Amino acid sequence: MSDIVEVLIPPLAQPFTYELSAELQGRNLVGFHANVPFGKRSALGYIIKQCPRSEGSIPDGVTIKQLLKLDGSYRHFDPQQLNFFEWVADYYGDTISRVLEVAIPPAVPQKFERFLSLVTPAPTPSRPPGKLQSRILDLLKEHKEALPYPLVLRTLRGAATAVKQLAAAGLLHIESREFLDSHASPLAAAAWAKTEVSLNPSQIEALRQTNEALERSQFTPFLLHGVTGSGKTEVYIEAVQNALRQQKGALIIVPEIALTPQLIDRFRARLGSQIAVLHSGLHKRVRWDSWRALLEGRNCVAIGARSAIFAPVPRLGLIIVDEEHDGSYKQSEGLRYHARDLALVRGRMESCPVILGSATPSLESYYNAMRKKYTYLRLPSSHSTAAPSQLEIVDLNLIKPWEMKAKNLSPRLYEALATTVARGEQAFILYNRRGFATYLQCDRCEEVLKCPNCSVTLTYHQDNNALLCHYCSYSLIPPHFCSHCETGADRAPDSTKRTGAKAKDEAQGIYVQRGAGTERIFDEIKNLFPETPIDRLDRDTALDTESYRRILDRVRSGETKILIGTQMIAKGHDLPGVTLVGIADCDVGLHLPDFRASERIFQLLTQAAGRAGRADKPGTVILQTRVPLHPSLLKTVEKDYEGFARQELRSRKGLLYPPYARMLRVIVSSPERTYPERILASFKEHAMHATTTQKLSVSALGPAPAQLERLKAQWRWHLLFKSPSVSALHKILATLAALKIHTGKVRITFDLDPQEML
Ligand code: ADP
Ligand code: ZN
Ligand code: ZN
Repeated sequence: MSDIVEVLIPPLAQPFTYELSAELQGRNLVGFHANVPFGKRSALGYIIKQCPRSEGSIPDGVTIKQLLKLDGSYRHFDPQQLNFFEWVADYYGDTISRVLEVAIPPAVPQKFERFLSLVTPAPTPSRPPGKLQSRILDLLKEHKEALPYPLVLRTLRGAATAVKQLAAAGLLHIESREFLDSHASPLAAAAWAKTEVSLNPSQIEALRQTNEALERSQFTPFLLHGVTGSGKTEVYIEAVQNALRQQKGALIIVPEIALTPQLIDRFRARLGSQIAVLHSGLHKRVRWDSWRALLEGRNCVAIGARSAIFAPVPRLGLIIVDEEHDGSYKQSEGLRYHARDLALVRGRMESCPVILGSATPSLESYYNAMRKKYTYLRLPSSHSTAAPSQLEIVDLNLIKPWEMKAKNLSPRLYEALATTVARGEQAFILYNRRGFATYLQCDRCEEVLKCPNCSVTLTYHQDNNALLCHYCSYSLIPPHFCSHCETGADRAPDSTKRTGAKAKDEAQGIYVQRGAGTERIFDEIKNLFPETPIDRLDRDTALDTESYRRILDRVRSGETKILIGTQMIAKGHDLPGVTLVGIADCDVGLHLPDFRASERIFQLLTQAAGRAGRADKPGTVILQTRVPLHPSLLKTVEKDYEGFARQELRSRKGLLYPPYARMLRVIVSSPERTYPERILASFKEHAMHATTTQKLSVSALGPAPAQLERLKAQWRWHLLFKSPSVSALHKILATLAALKIHTGKVRITFDLDPQEML
């Protein structure tokens, strides 16, 4: 009896059935890529199931097409991984086809290159080699392995003739071999420094506990919490070495690989060439070469960004998620998976420990640690010898407009910049680009108008002079005078209120518009420091890894004195010359209509503060704000993560936001202005009906216009569901996904566990 197989041809959701040709019979082919007849053409697909024909769903006597041949000789996934893919598809309400498209990089044809190697034993040359010839021979001796010819040419200019002469003299071989990513920079690899430290007691304890789980091959989630410099990366490296000693593989997920070149260099320096680095996006070949190294078992440690969570690590025994709170772990389009969440799922399926590390854990993870769902590992102090950086708040309310050096530059920040530059040191100025949210704020007590239902900032709409909640659609005609001023003094409902700065008997405050437009801070600073080399780092100037590296290299070399940029500059670079970090406007981020606004700003500021000062030069961090008593800012300045988390969790609990509830966000966009609202209104009705009939505990917020109401010529609205149970949300998702929308002009997106609320 012959075997049949089911083949998924992305992006088609349904698998097709084929019969195995005679020569493929008898092999288990699940996970292979295959070429199959499809209509009049052929198509490539993944084999996801195989069984004897008698057990399949095809009746006897019906002829089915034959699978033509395998494409490539790799099993792309094993049954365990397939289970994982199925789980992911199921959870996010998507197809396995789509998961495979995201998970598996496209194969790239092999590339061949000429390689140079020494002839051993070396024959005695007829005459002594020339200077360049000797250098070539030395280079090859030093590296012991064959080197790609182009690399040798790049390293030793004008070596072509010398290589030919050496080959003619029988001293070296030139042969064509497959060129892999790992061949690209063996010279740099040799230059990586090795560092070993003796671990401190908390690191030893962290490793003892993770190692125990590793030895027992038991799913155990850990939260490794420690400030920047406390030695988390040391723990990761040792933990991976423990795994390798036990013949197990390891997977390390990092936020955005382009942003962490140093971290990768450090891993390579300590773990050698057994690491596969999974770049995404730009370099298809590089990604594919690393992927193949895992498939072929040449590498059993993988390090990569978000999509590396799907990597085929052989004998996976350990998963590490660095900076687990980072927003980039959530894919914001297509399959909206969250790599940190999936790390836990995969760890459970593969029975291995999962280490989530952060200086500012997400409240979800922290909450799980407090409830003992995760083992909490704390690294108490920084290893850096630098004096802790000094954080200072500049209260913009106390500065008269004419006293400001520029629209976004207080005298204090200006003076700090001037001194820093004069000392030959460097400064970062961070501004949040998300400056499109306009809100109203009392010019006296600094109260910001918030939605009474959702407690997110109300957004001001100039066109119809209205305040609108972008979660539940609550709207308000903007009041002129602040009612909080009157009653606030004794009521004090939130501690953002500033007291004492102005006389109490002064008239009520009036609301003024704040946060409008993106600041032109770069131009402002350029005008004030015309002679100083200033650079910018954001999505516009750092379009790819190369330009990104160049900008940072100019900072590292000391050429750039002031770097202005978005949150990208807050990521973990080790730039010792930077002694001043200025946050131009903390408030933009604080008043975003997102329930995670406070958490994000706490993380961002803490991270940015970690950038200032190293070794012998203590750093200064200056935060410019109009809400100097905002709890997130105070806790940042106090460096009090626990206090921040306690206070933030309390407020989330009151409003039933994660981690106390799960959320499902439905976004509808359309070029037709009225469609999104209408469709979502009907979605809400259907959902509420399902809630009643199936007795689900789900509440709905909205529909409301999304914060980015107009995006790429589309009108966008959203509808939010909250529930203590994710399975209730799954039922809602399934109900809504099954509805047929009779118009082609809309796009409907379901986002389970949304991170982005804009
Ligand atoms: P994190 O990942 O938490 O930011 P790292 O692991 O990068 O911290 O450590 C910060 C610095 O301190 C590194 O230069 C590292 O080599 C050093 N370091 C880490 N642990 C120790 C230790 N136990 N003793 C001495 N130095 C250490
Ligand atoms: Zn609301
Ligand atoms: Zn007021």
